[in-house]
Amino acid sequence: MELKDNQVKGKNVNPPVWSKNTSGKFGDKLPDTIVLHYTAGPFKASLYTLTNPRVKASAHIIIDRDGSITQLVKFDTVAWHAGRSSYKGRTGLNKYSIGIEMVNSGYLSKSGNVYRSQFGSAYNPSDVIQAVHKNQTTPKYWHIYTEEQIQTVTELCRLLIDEKGIKHIVGHDDIAPSRKTDPGPAFPLKRLEKQLLGDSRHEDGGEELPEVGRVVASALNIRETPKTGMKVAQALKKGTKVKILDEVNGWYKISTEIEGWVFGKFVET
Ligand SMILES: [Zn+2]
Repeated sequence: MELKDNQVKGKNVNPPVWSKNTSGKFGDKLPDTIVLHYTAGPFKASLYTLTNPRVKASAHIIIDRDGSITQLVKFDTVAWHAGRSSYKGRTGLNKYSIGIEMVNSGYLSKSGNVYRSQFGSAYNPSDVIQAVHKNQTTPKYWHIYTEEQIQTVTELCRLLIDEKGIKHIVGHDDIAPSRKTDPGPAFPLKRLEKQLLGDSRHEDGGEELPEVGRVVASALNIRETPKTGMKVAQALKKGTKVKILDEVNGWYKISTEIEGWVFGKFVET
């Protein structure tokens, strides 16, 4: 993957589909931020929306479920993805940031064993994680991101850090927390930020903690503390996706409907 004339090139990159929904060039030493989003819709519909002159929205990049990249706006040009937003004393993040959209359905509703997106598509339990959004208090079901998407977005962010001097990677839910939930808890934003921009704010210095895992035992008990003892809820079923918050002596602190500790051996990451 490489940048040429503010355009990404490489084997995983589709021909660009240029959007006219822009407002000119960035100012001096900008952009310095990447804002990550989910599309809350399929690739084609999202591409149509973000290139439609009647819709006042765009982004620089869409990453499809297969990890392929489509560019809509050059990296030296302001796109319209952030909306009303503020971060670290600045408002209106469009003029400071590159917007990357990932094809993902966001939060899902459950009926029986089927999960549905807001636009009606159905998903299997294996495509879903249950987690509490960092700006919310109750758990919801969230569409997972594919490994290919995470690999591509990592590579692209690394390239933009090197070539454009990006200093911050944030979610739309960090810059517009009252309006937005993307990219949401299914996306390993903290891990990505630490991996690419790791700095002294993260002082634990320990090994990388996986962010998401899947239960591989037929039933896995959740405990109040990281040892065999008090159970706090019903055992988790095999295949359940969990968000991993902490690790102590081979136990994972996980979050599903509730938080608790499980024996790490039974969670595949
Ligand atoms: Zn967004």
